[in-house]
This record gives sequence, C-alpha cells and structure tokens, in this order.
Amino acid sequence: MKVPFAGFALRDLQQYCSEREIAVVHAATLMRAVYKESDFEPWKKPLLPLKLVKSLPEDFDFVTSTIAKARVSRYDQSVKFLVQLSDSHVIEMVLMPETKRLTLCISTQVGCRQGCLFCHTATMGLKRNLLAHEIVEQIVLANRWLAQNPGWLSEVRLPAFTRVTNMVMMGMGEPLDNVDAVIKAIEILTEPLGAHLALRRISVSTAGHKDGLVQLLAAYPKAAVALSLHEADSDKRSKIMPINKKWPVEEILRFLRDHYAVHNPRASILVQYLVIAGVNDTLAHAAAVADLLEGLPVKVNLIPLNEISGGRFVAPEARVLGAMRDLIHHRKLRVMVRYSKGQDIGAACGQLAAKAELPPT
Ligand code: SF4
Repeated sequence: MKVPFAGFALRDLQQYCSEREIAVVHAATLMRAVYKESDFEPWKKPLLPLKLVKSLPEDFDFVTSTIAKARVSRYDQSVKFLVQLSDSHVIEMVLMPETKRLTLCISTQVGCRQGCLFCHTATMGLKRNLLAHEIVEQIVLANRWLAQNPGWLSEVRLPAFTRVTNMVMMGMGEPLDNVDAVIKAIEILTEPLGAHLALRRISVSTAGHKDGLVQLLAAYPKAAVALSLHEADSDKRSKIMPINKKWPVEEILRFLRDHYAVHNPRASILVQYLVIAGVNDTLAHAAAVADLLEGLPVKVNLIPLNEISGGRFVAPEARVLGAMRDLIHHRKLRVMVRYSKGQDIGAACGQLAAKAELPPT
C-alpha cells in the first residue's frame, strides 16, 4: 500500500533509504525536489539509483489532496482555497499577500469540537483530525498553485518565484486538539533541505488548550503561539468559548508568560481579539483586556468580525474599534486593528468548507 510522502520527515526518508541499502544522501534530493521544486515525480530525476527509481512510485503518494476551488478576492487579492482530502472531506486555506510576505492560513482539523459561539466551523462539529501529511500538503498545494499562476504574483507586486513565506494555523480546527500531527508537520516544514520555513514564521493559534500547549512547547520551546482571547472576563469568556471552563485564560497566560521568560525572553505572545457588535465591543471590554494583559509581553490584534450572510453576529463600527484600540494603547500595550482578508470571498473560518462538503466517494 502506498503511503503519503508529505508525512515523512528527513529522518524517516533516510531510514527508508537505509532499509533498502540506498545511500541516505538521496533522502535530501527527494525533499528538495518535492518542497523546493514542486516536483511530484522525483523518481524521474537524473542520477537516482535504479532501486529508488523503481520503489518511489510504488511506495509513495506524492500528493493526496487536491485544490477543488480557488477564489480570488477583488478587494485585497487574497485567495481562498477549498482543498479536497482523499476521503472527500473538504478543508480550507487562505493565501494572504502582504508587502514582503506571503502568508498561508491553514486548517488542522475537519470541523472543530470546541464550540465557540461565534465560529462558523464550530457548527460543523469535529469530523476528524487532519493527519500530518494533510497539514504539510496545504503548503505543497499552495506553492504549486503559485508556480502555475505567476500572473497573480505580479498583480500583488511580489517577485516572480515567491513561495509561501509564513504559515499560520488559524483555519478550521483547534490545532492543539491535534497536537501530535501539528508537531510532526512542523518538523517536516522546518527541514532546511525541504520547505525550510523558519520556526518563527509558523504561528500556532489556540483558543487556550493547555495540554496541547505544554506538549507543543516541550517539542518546540520557541514555537510562536497566538492566543484567541475574544473576551477578557473569564466568566463571560466561558459562555462564548467553552474551553475556558477547563483552562481559564488567566492560567493560559501565566503558563505562556513563565515559559517564554525562560525559553524565549524576547518573544511576544500574539493575542487575537475578534470584535463582535453588541457582544464584546464596549470600552469596558477594552479596559478588561488591558487589565488582564497588563505587564505581559503581548501584541494585541483587534479583528472586526467578518460577517456571514444569515449569521446572527454583526461586525462592529469602525469608530468603536478605534476607541477600543486607543484605550488599550493608552494602557501601554501594543495594539492594532487588523481587518481580515478576503471579506468578499467568505474568508471567515469555516465559511466555505461548511457550505461545500463534498459527497463521499
Ligand atoms: S474559533 Fe477555533 S477553536 Fe473555536 S470553534 Fe472555531 S475553529 Fe474551533
């Protein structure tokens, strides 16, 4: 039976080679071909040992997922992809161009079981965890799409041949509910001979999953974490984010502060605050955020809700956002308002995939 190539780290490929008495140096050639050159038939490379030429197509599936749909935003050129997995489940990822960066927001689960009240993905429940290779393949697919669409890069004024430079795990799912696969995917994606993403360019978002954080930061003490706060008052937070009942946000912040003080003193914790009209958008809410985060090494992003048609939550007014930002800023915290990309293409988490679940084959 074939196995997915994207689930293999360099050390796994080296083991594969040595078990077949093939020089392990060829493991690096394969990583380079797939991740740097988007070559999914690496057995055709010159100078590969005959044994490898024969065994590679028999043993590996080089890509198991496909891009089922890509929609480009008319406003900011971000691209939302629907990715179909081998069992026909659908996930989504978003490619977001910035001045010097190309960030890919990826999914880590099909659906999510955390039940955050404002989140579209939550309405799907958890269908299943992604496997490590399905996390890695999202970058592989995005880079191949870039190679096939050079016109898009010139439209967004990025140099030709630019590939994904940053990755955020903020798409569908709670990444730390699937921490083993996330850790394995990070190992594969940071491999210098392969995709070579720097660890600091991978951001793992969490609603506050303490067990997962402990495991992630034990494996990668300098991993960048983004905490989805959305409400600073713990009792109210438990009502909109049930995970807070198990792991109160104060406990999570204490843990992160103590961990980074030892392992990465210059790091900041990114705190994301989704602003929803009539739910968490008053100056009292902003003051509670400042109280909670006072003295912590944080950067706060205020993100206005991306409304979905028929949804019950509404985006805040721009002046409300500005007033919240100013209050937090005056309390000596780093804060900015960030608009989510792709407002016209359903870029809110889970918005496209929930609509487009494809029938099983
Ligand atoms: S916001 Fe994140 S953790 Fe909460 S339900 Fe949605 S995907 Fe899950």
